Amino acid sequence: MIYSFYIKVYGCQMNDYDGKRIEDILILNGFFKVNDPLTADIVIFYTCNIREKAVHKLESTVGMIKSPKIKVIAVGGCVAQAEKDNIFKRIPRVNLSFGPSTYHKLPEYLDDLLSGKKKRIIDLSNYKLEKFNSTNKRREITTSSYVAIQEGCDNFCTYCVVPYTRGREYSRPVIDIINEVKWLVNNGAKEIVLGGQNVNSYHGEAPYITIGSNRKTWRIEELIKAIAAIDGIKRLRYLTSHPKDFTVELMQVHNAVPILVPFVHIPVQSGSDRILKLMNRNHTAREYLDKLKLFRDICPAIQFSSDFIVGFPSETEEDFNDTLKLVEEAKYTLSFYFKYSIRPNTPAARMLEQIDDKIKEERLARLIKALLKDQIYYNNKLVGKIQEILITKKGKKENQYIGKNIYMQSVIINSDENIIDKFKTVLIESANENCVFGKLLD
Ligand code: SF4
Repeated sequence: MIYSFYIKVYGCQMNDYDGKRIEDILILNGFFKVNDPLTADIVIFYTCNIREKAVHKLESTVGMIKSPKIKVIAVGGCVAQAEKDNIFKRIPRVNLSFGPSTYHKLPEYLDDLLSGKKKRIIDLSNYKLEKFNSTNKRREITTSSYVAIQEGCDNFCTYCVVPYTRGREYSRPVIDIINEVKWLVNNGAKEIVLGGQNVNSYHGEAPYITIGSNRKTWRIEELIKAIAAIDGIKRLRYLTSHPKDFTVELMQVHNAVPILVPFVHIPVQSGSDRILKLMNRNHTAREYLDKLKLFRDICPAIQFSSDFIVGFPSETEEDFNDTLKLVEEAKYTLSFYFKYSIRPNTPAARMLEQIDDKIKEERLARLIKALLKDQIYYNNKLVGKIQEILITKKGKKENQYIGKNIYMQSVIINSDENIIDKFKTVLIESANENCVFGKLLD
């Protein structure tokens, strides 16, 4: 019998990557995908635990899916990892729970459940190497392809669940990554995004020991150079990075490797040393700003984006003003900003001085205003320039398409033909704080 599956993925880019790999594994093993949970034999929720009440929300979503056809309800990813056995008590209809490192075993587990051999399965093991090696082949290749080079994090920022759900840092061996990139490029990928929770602390098994060095691992800058030598890659990016792990060598790679974009995401979260300490970020605001300056000195074309959390427990007006001062000095091309929200079982969740939501709202509005000031400045500087744009999706209006430039800024253009997943040469004609508008030149 051929069984159908439905999958819903929540959360970050890494979860999207995992979700696509789960689809690949199941389809390659004879299952077929449907887009409506009510028509599926197997319903899979691949979850994110970053927000408060993720399990509550999952409980009500599962409760709403009523179909006699469903034989397996699976919860995978970070909620499964965090809840452990408890997931079966919280949501009794769930009969399969799997962590972020075990999804390559799904065909085996589904066979056991569908054949009635087992009634319930939970696997939260740490099979990272096995998982990555079992999922190199993909059915659909996009022009921009994400390749996980590491997973997990050792930093234990006090607001973050990643070290508890994705586990400690694991770096894939260099040779496995290179083989995956070669395979993607041979099958149509042109932009490669090297991904992970903390990619600039990458330390994967070296393919060979360099003469004069007895290091058995390579750092990210060595990996980037090896990947850049593969024919056919037009653009290379990496994300996400931790400020403390940026080395001079990594900054220099941006000059040495022309296909590596001059754009880096370096999250800072706050400009207050007191808050950075409470967050366990392991650097001060000045150390961070000095790193940006050094980066600009080494690579004048480089531009930065960042993440910010406003209203972290005990954040005062003075702390928040330090964040505004940092923004003024850092000059970001693009930024992502969030109100602090409690992430279950993290040290920050237990901090007593939680900030009132109204104060968070008001600070967030002021932060956005400061960030957009720089964003519109940089966007206006693009007007009149010709850029290579990777078109990623359809716009809201007829014949409208949206792409990304090297700075990950959205570029809006019109075209009579479908240009999704293509690189196009575009003249930038106008800009606002959120995007730029261009005209196709080829
Ligand atoms: S460095 Fe990033 S992934 Fe790691 S604990 Fe901090 S916020 Fe989470």
